[in-house]
Amino acid sequence: MLPASLKSDFPILGETVNGRPLVYLDNAATSQKPRAVLDASRHYYEALNSNIHRGTHFLARAATVAHEAARETIASHIHANSPDEVIFTSGATDGVNLVSDILPLSVGDEILISTLEHHSNIVPWQMLAERSGAKMVMIPCDENGVLDQSAFANLLSDKTKVLALTWVSNAFGTVNPVREMTAAAKKHGATVLIDAAQAIPHMAIDVRELGADFLVFSGHKVYAPTGIGVLWGRLDLLKSLPPWKGGGEMIKQVTFEGTTYNDPPFKYEAGTPNIEGAIALAAALDYVNAIGLDAIHDHERKLIAAAAEALSEIPGIRLYGPPDRIGALSFAIEGVHHYDLGTLIDQMGVAVRTGHHCCQPLMARFGITGTTRASFALYNTMEDIEALTTAVKKAATMLS
Ligand code: PLP
Repeated sequence: MLPASLKSDFPILGETVNGRPLVYLDNAATSQKPRAVLDASRHYYEALNSNIHRGTHFLARAATVAHEAARETIASHIHANSPDEVIFTSGATDGVNLVSDILPLSVGDEILISTLEHHSNIVPWQMLAERSGAKMVMIPCDENGVLDQSAFANLLSDKTKVLALTWVSNAFGTVNPVREMTAAAKKHGATVLIDAAQAIPHMAIDVRELGADFLVFSGHKVYAPTGIGVLWGRLDLLKSLPPWKGGGEMIKQVTFEGTTYNDPPFKYEAGTPNIEGAIALAAALDYVNAIGLDAIHDHERKLIAAAAEALSEIPGIRLYGPPDRIGALSFAIEGVHHYDLGTLIDQMGVAVRTGHHCCQPLMARFGITGTTRASFALYNTMEDIEALTTAVKKAATMLS
């Protein structure tokens, strides 16, 4: 297990809620920020703040160097072939919208997604389907929230132009076999986008080994600020696909007669970017790597297994997702509304999320409107799990 002293790296975790020490188990929604990240943000505004890329003065050059160094840190974290494959976005949602807006689809094409997707990996594709006449196709899941691989194999065809798949389910913690599914989709010539929003805080990512074309994530799920994210894309695709938003930075030459576009990554980064966010994201990844992703993964697996075991003793409880889930543990107690449960345990100082978790189609598949979800981060401890299970047991008794 990781040392409990890691909590002291995160100033907010020293706060009290309703007179009790905060137990923060809403990490799939957003993670808390360590001092190293807060310091990087502050240092940027105190020592570097300037607009990047075109300035000749000292601060403009220093901010540009720091911003591009951040891109290199991120490229090396995900094992990209080049920093040019790393496009800064405002988050995972932004990245999916970027890709779904530039892919040329037409009538007869199919977009394959899974039942486990977050709305941000559903709706942009539905919008593309509406625009292009392409068809949405859904990979079903079983009662454990595990994707049906034989159904997936049958759904694949040469009509499949896109596979958009989450690596880890934010609702149930299911880990999809993304490498195998990517390889199968590539055999049919599909473009593959992996949503790594819930993978990035919990596991090592190697985009070269993955074999996909695009991968998106948000900084705020991996201890960085909100408003910064990454779209990784294969360089040949980024070069050949059309630009997305138009504006400054994404151009080489503009005349009133026409524009020539910049090379990736700048081609997809119109306007002044979130400079501080990029620098703070690199600081967050440095922080995570100093602890070690294997150690984090192992720690969180032990926490989630302990939570699942303790909660399963509660009469009438149903745990969702497979036993080898990571990140998120969803549950429901018969006769107890998830909202009431979440509200009561908040009064006991325990922060969890209740509702559909932006996965309404998945909730509909299970015939429910929502669940209570505890989600885990590197700073959580066995004491947090004890606080969670004690609070849930108490609340369940009060509510049923
Ligand atoms: N994909 C998954 C699996 C998520 O869990 C989330 C957020 O919860 C997103 C995408 C969207 O992330 P963001 O709102 O940061 O763009």
